[in-house]
Amino acid sequence: MSSSDSSEFVLDASAFYAGIPFQSSKNCITTNAVYEEVRHIRRSYSPLEALIDAGNLIIMEPELTSFNKVIACAKKTGDYRKLSQADISIIALALQLDKTLISDDFAVGNVATFLKIPVRTLAFKGISELRAWVWFCKSCARVYNYRISVCQICGSKLRRRFTVITDTTPDTL
Ligand SMILES: [Zn+2]
Repeated sequence: MSSSDSSEFVLDASAFYAGIPFQSSKNCITTNAVYEEVRHIRRSYSPLEALIDAGNLIIMEPELTSFNKVIACAKKTGDYRKLSQADISIIALALQLDKTLISDDFAVGNVATFLKIPVRTLAFKGISELRAWVWFCKSCARVYNYRISVCQICGSKLRRRFTVITDTTPDTL
């Protein structure tokens, strides 16, 4: 498989929650199913539409053949029951486009690895240009990866904190 184009990443929902589309210098691609999932959660704030308007976030659907390949692989690895339709769609899109997939979901990452899709996780390696703001609540310690002013759990005013995700491994992307 050829090396992935470094100009774009394919993102699953966990990558959106981590703020990747807002912080990455690369264009981002996702599927409609993933977009619907994250849009619902962010209903009080809609920066995603601005990214789409600016051309920094592209929504595409995988072809049925790619979708079916992912399902067949997931059944083999035993991950099928853990995957949502959105999960399957985003793996299929990364497979079809031969792009790096960003995900923190173990089952997604496992199936993608079996399909030889390059996967970056957020938890420990991150992406080299990534600088992420998080909003945190001093009262209940809840952390939000998106910009809101008041805690959705306890109603306290949130504070902002800068998180730098470093990547010390040689970047082959
Ligand atoms: Zn709170």
